[in-house]
Amino acid sequence: MSDDILARFEGLPPFSEIRVEAIEPAITDRIEANRAALDRLTDAADPPTWDNLVAPIEAMEDRLERSWAPVRHLNGVASSPELREVHNRCLEKLTAYYSEKAQHPGLFRAFKAIAEGPEYARLDAVQRKVIDDALRDFRLGGIDLPEAQRDRFRAIDARLAELESRFEQNLLDATDAWSLTVTDPARLEGMPESVRDLARSAAEQRGVEGWVFNLQAPSVIGVLTHAADRALRREVYTAFTTRASDQGPHAGRWDNGPVMAEILRLRREKAELLGFGDYARLSLTTKMADSPEAVLEFLDDLAHRAGPIARREFDTLAEFARENGGPEALEAWDVAYWAERLRQSRYALSQEELKPYFPVECVLDGLFAIVGKLFGVRVAEREGVDAWHPDVRFYALEDADGRPRGGFYLDLYAREHKRGGAWMDECISRRLTAEGIQQPVAFLTCNAAPPVGDRPALLTFDEVTTLFHEFGHGLHHMLTQVEYRPVSGINGVEWDAVELPSQLLENWCWEKRALDLVAGHYRTGEPLPDDLFDRLRRSRNFNAGMAMMRQLEFSLFDIRLHRETGADCEPATIQAILDAVREHVAVLQPPAFNRFQNGFAHIFAGGYAAGYYSYKWAEVLSADAFGRFEEYDVFDPLVGRDFLGCILERGGSRPALELFCEFRGREPSIDALLRHNGLVDGADGTGVDGS
Ligand SMILES: [Zn+2]
Repeated sequence: MSDDILARFEGLPPFSEIRVEAIEPAITDRIEANRAALDRLTDAADPPTWDNLVAPIEAMEDRLERSWAPVRHLNGVASSPELREVHNRCLEKLTAYYSEKAQHPGLFRAFKAIAEGPEYARLDAVQRKVIDDALRDFRLGGIDLPEAQRDRFRAIDARLAELESRFEQNLLDATDAWSLTVTDPARLEGMPESVRDLARSAAEQRGVEGWVFNLQAPSVIGVLTHAADRALRREVYTAFTTRASDQGPHAGRWDNGPVMAEILRLRREKAELLGFGDYARLSLTTKMADSPEAVLEFLDDLAHRAGPIARREFDTLAEFARENGGPEALEAWDVAYWAERLRQSRYALSQEELKPYFPVECVLDGLFAIVGKLFGVRVAEREGVDAWHPDVRFYALEDADGRPRGGFYLDLYAREHKRGGAWMDECISRRLTAEGIQQPVAFLTCNAAPPVGDRPALLTFDEVTTLFHEFGHGLHHMLTQVEYRPVSGINGVEWDAVELPSQLLENWCWEKRALDLVAGHYRTGEPLPDDLFDRLRRSRNFNAGMAMMRQLEFSLFDIRLHRETGADCEPATIQAILDAVREHVAVLQPPAFNRFQNGFAHIFAGGYAAGYYSYKWAEVLSADAFGRFEEYDVFDPLVGRDFLGCILERGGSRPALELFCEFRGREPSIDALLRHNGLVDGADGTGVDGS
């Protein structure tokens, strides 16, 4: 057994002591130990029970996961060529191990014996859910296949893991590889100070004169939203939307096209081996939605409602641009820029005007105060916790009775070698051990612009809502009261219901009483002025139709891709499906060089395959759940405690629909989503979420 720290640490991962060269031996040893234990446990003569089989397996899986989680996380937020290589080799071994486990005949027999024997009646409902889910997963892991097909199935899983990881690396490399140095200050026209400062500090870091723009989100968004220089916008847009593709400045260098095509071919083959017609159908067997048809119908219905609104919004925008010295016809790199001008002219509201009110400390204090009111939890920073970067902080969570409920790492700022976007990942899961409850710990990751000079980091309003969103996921993970890892926190929750807590929490960003806790001018501490809030609130549905159509474009593309591509899938097939979807829903056809799909990590590397619709699906739930708060009071502690007790604490211990009905007192209704998005007559002008 490896005696490395990674193999034996308890509690929080010792990040600074993790040596890259020790990772593979530690993980490999752990896998081997688990393999041996599986054989030993399933060879035992006693009839299998929860205590002699399920519990020890859960414990050893947990040990492996706790060792692997920090490695997986480091690979995402502090990548290096050495770490990446080790990560990939470990991932290969882990994938092989999990595929084997899913097809372990003795293990399957033992679970079946529990399900069919007297033990099942002795288990509580949560334990039964664990057994039922496991039996389902054995079938989805190919246990029922003839041997030759089982081998092929495992080979597919291994290759898929490799390809998905390659997709992500190509994207990261392509993102990091491009930058643009601007030396003529005239090219910065229109850019607010914050965007210039960011570019200036990027230039300083590289030791060059002028301003450096890159493909990290704050820089790209800064240029596309503010740069008056149209050629500059076009250049950044082109580099960004051709990342990891056969187009653009690095054409062919990290092309994800063949990777994506092979992923889709293999997913299809896997689905067919299991007897599903296509991958979408396989993907939906573990989700809340009944069938791909039900998903398509849901998406088409929304497209039908939002389409005319989106087209009107676009026409208005195009006309506004023409009347104000803009181009005759808007191109893709013009939309964000003119939308921002129109927003300013209509609501006298600029993103930049809001930013000084959202210094990061103030936002965090406000967020913690809000979840304190709603769910009775207290959040306190803990100093001196070992992490992977000096900007990272650690917080501990306590409930109203002062009992510890978990903790989280917060990594807020964009930097090189860190994956883009925002996400929550598990570090430690809650479960009952021989020593008592193991407290859950989460990784919360954002990519906001870092502080520049001695001015604190100021968040855009979008970044504020994103932080609330990820914190919602974090609460789901940390506040769970479930004692078995496979269904604690977000584990075992249907994927298309997972966004319920995260999207629910975003709603408080639009409530004045909540924002008063969140906002405070970084120089004066002054709260967000009423008038500014009114303008913000009125602008909530600004271009909400277009935003909705964009989400529907991604969702429809994803679900159609996983229904319609087969053994002959090529990059051109993918493009053709995307073109067809855009024909149907896009208000502006992007240029032919656009390769958005080559950077669509959600579905090619992030677990959302045939599941991107989940954002909209769960928004039905989150909007409807928030409706209950609206009916009483957005800070009603009883409604908050109900949400805590019915949803946040229950994890995947019961089907999401049942839990929702328990909270809402009825089945979900789409009305609140339509109302919040301005898609019904008499809508109240509140808006679309930032998923
Ligand atoms: Zn989310």
